[in-house]
Amino acid sequence: MNKKEEIETPTAKQQVPFRNFPMVPKVVFGRGSFDQLGDILLPNRKSADAPMIFLVDDVFEGTDLVGRLPVIFQDQLIFISADEEPSTTQVDTLVARIKADHEEEASGIIGIGGGTLLDLAKAVSIMLNNKGSSSEYQGWDLVQRPSYYHVGIPTISGTGAEVSRTTVLSGPKRKLGINSDYSTFDQVILDPDLTQGVPKDQWFYTGMDCYIHCIESLQGTYLNAFSQSYGDISLQLCRDVFLGDLSPEESRDKLMMASWHGGMSIAYSQVGVAHAMSYGLSFVLGIRHGLGNCLVFQHLEEFYPKGVAEFKQMMAKHDVILPSGICKHLSEEELDQIVDIALGMVPLWENALGPDWQSKVSPEDLKRIYRKI
Ligand code: NAD
Ligand code: ZN
Repeated sequence: MNKKEEIETPTAKQQVPFRNFPMVPKVVFGRGSFDQLGDILLPNRKSADAPMIFLVDDVFEGTDLVGRLPVIFQDQLIFISADEEPSTTQVDTLVARIKADHEEEASGIIGIGGGTLLDLAKAVSIMLNNKGSSSEYQGWDLVQRPSYYHVGIPTISGTGAEVSRTTVLSGPKRKLGINSDYSTFDQVILDPDLTQGVPKDQWFYTGMDCYIHCIESLQGTYLNAFSQSYGDISLQLCRDVFLGDLSPEESRDKLMMASWHGGMSIAYSQVGVAHAMSYGLSFVLGIRHGLGNCLVFQHLEEFYPKGVAEFKQMMAKHDVILPSGICKHLSEEELDQIVDIALGMVPLWENALGPDWQSKVSPEDLKRIYRKI
């Protein structure tokens, strides 16, 4: 097992001298704004034969959203299950399929769904213009050629994948993002109405991904005014959504913007203990990102006392009961492996606990926490 696991972006301290951070250049926000997609795509169509490729979460198959997609000319609609988080093999297969299905090069890729579909759209748009397998580009700034035009349309809020410069993929050797300036979307459409059908548990888990981004960024040693400005706003929006009494419409609006700001906050800082420990769970047990973060975070009082107390308030308000007994039957070897992966995420620990983090946390400490999950 390779210890170098996914981290969201390079850290502020790794930036030499300062990272020139790409931002999404165009964004539309508003309930019903999804219906502008056709107009937005039109000037980006290279020709009638150069298709737009729509990668859509298969949860929307057979719903009215499909009828609203501006699929014209040679465009292709591909439904994709988000049951498993994206992999390099899946990206390579999709790219081969798109190339085989069309004589003309694609005009662009549109990803519609949660973090899974957004990451797939980013990776496919890169690999349509770069040689070899997507696994060769997992890491930092390895992409040589620009990605194809790509649009991200989130249908669940929290990951910040709509603003980030990474696409997280499980590869043959490791789970690691393609972190590059070419990953960032050319266009994002934020239509809060699209998040209406999200099941409550998933709403909470993915929403808490955002809340945890804020806590980890705001309490991290890498914090700077750039990250704090976004983190403060995102945290307040999370509190409004998960502890306030908003109408469903307001709640969807605010969570979508919380996700955006949370993503911007960690872009220029780093996540922390919950993410490091959650990656261990994800890689060894296949536990998904949002749920994994929640499972860990509930037991992190010693690192984030106020954040954990507030998280529990949020859980209670929404009657969320997290699954339990997940690590109960793990062998010592399996637990060692999970701990090994978690402790391999050096920048996350450094952000959370400072440069001397190794003197503040031991493998035994982590095992003790994992055993509670
Ligand atoms: P997801 O995309 O994995 O989807 C979770 C579930 O919600 C799926 O079952 C999906 O079908 C369903 N769903 C989505 N929208 C829905 C809707 N409107 N109605 C009904 N069901 C809906 O969820 P996620 O938590 O957004 O994404 C997790 C993924 O994001 C992981 O792969 C993680 O690695 C990645 N991630 C990426 C970044 C980044 O910066 N690139 C950051 C954090 C997480
Ligand atoms: Zn996260």
